[in-house]
Amino acid sequence: MLTRESTMSDCCSSSCTTQTLLKKLPCPVNGDSYKAVPLKTILHHIRQPWAWAGKDQAYYFCDDADCDVVYFGADGTTISRSALRTTVGIKDRSADATLCYCFGVSRADARANPQIQAYVTEQTKHKMCDCEIRNPSGKCCLKDFPTA
Ligand SMILES: [Zn+2]
Repeated sequence: MLTRESTMSDCCSSSCTTQTLLKKLPCPVNGDSYKAVPLKTILHHIRQPWAWAGKDQAYYFCDDADCDVVYFGADGTTISRSALRTTVGIKDRSADATLCYCFGVSRADARANPQIQAYVTEQTKHKMCDCEIRNPSGKCCLKDFPTA
């Protein structure tokens, strides 16, 4: 077992620690390796979650804008963009793509005002964010902000 501290580095939420312990798996379509995502996250973004035949296995989030797969299971099944009710900002290169789902920050907002990143960082420190369910990646958006 890893200690709690060692699981917190990539996550602003204490509730997604188990996912960060899982090994990365390659996306069946683009072949790059990605981290696991909480099942809860998928249920908050997939269309008709009641009709989705999710299995009792780990699911992963592919953030490649050129890959249509958003989530994939350890068994190789995939969930594509069209199966979601949320537009995945990190997979969309347009200026109005949403980067921060907790506070509604678009890529254009983030580029135009660097203070926004500081604001989000501050809110995250105070646990005022809800990335695990609001962000389709299931993770904190800060790493997705454009670097100046
Ligand atoms: Zn992919």
